[in-house]
Amino acid sequence: MASGFEPKILICTECNEEFVFTVAAQEYFAERGYTEDPKRCKTCHTKYKKANREQRHHQSVEQPHFEYPE
Ligand SMILES: [Zn+2]
Repeated sequence: MASGFEPKILICTECNEEFVFTVAAQEYFAERGYTEDPKRCKTCHTKYKKANREQRHHQSVEQPHFEYPE
């Protein structure tokens, strides 16, 4: 409880729905060195990632993808 993070309400750029940037996700972002808030809700993020992976399945070198902690 001493992380200093608080859940944030963000608007998804994909579906324009509000979603919660949870403390766990913020900690995860901080650990990975991400300085920007996520642009998509978890649902859109998962869809986008899946589409992206299917498009580029022939490519072996991939950027590390952010995974929302469950
Ligand atoms: Zn969304």
